[in-house]
Amino acid sequence: MTARARGDIFRKNAESDEYVRFAEAFPEIAELSVDVDERGEGNEELGLRRFHQGTVREFFNCSNHRCVGRGFRMGDLLRDMTRRRDTRRDVEVRCQSREESGGVCANIFRVSVRIAYRPSSPAAGSSGSGPLRN
Ligand SMILES: [Zn+2]
Repeated sequence: MTARARGDIFRKNAESDEYVRFAEAFPEIAELSVDVDERGEGNEELGLRRFHQGTVREFFNCSNHRCVGRGFRMGDLLRDMTRRRDTRRDVEVRCQSREESGGVCANIFRVSVRIAYRPSSPAAGSSGSGPLRN
């Protein structure tokens, strides 16, 4: 079974190429809600898409069929939010990839993120690597 098939879909951290499960990449997140509204080519019927911690991914793919890459770097946004312990963020960003022609992709992602954090460990600085019981 490949790592990805096990659900190892998030980069461990910004410097790492290692992919891990959501719970390992973001152990501090108790609940996550992400609304994605993409404007532009190829997304006429998608409407508002809603994700949670079980369905969110490192990237949201762009719907523009001429676009070669990954549209929105969700993992980067989540890593930034968790570092600051932000509970909500609303961003509107252009697709971060390009069209096959090399031109800029015009699709726009409106992304709304809500995060509920687990209570901080009173022993901050300890290993914090014990198993979490749900
Ligand atoms: Zn695109």
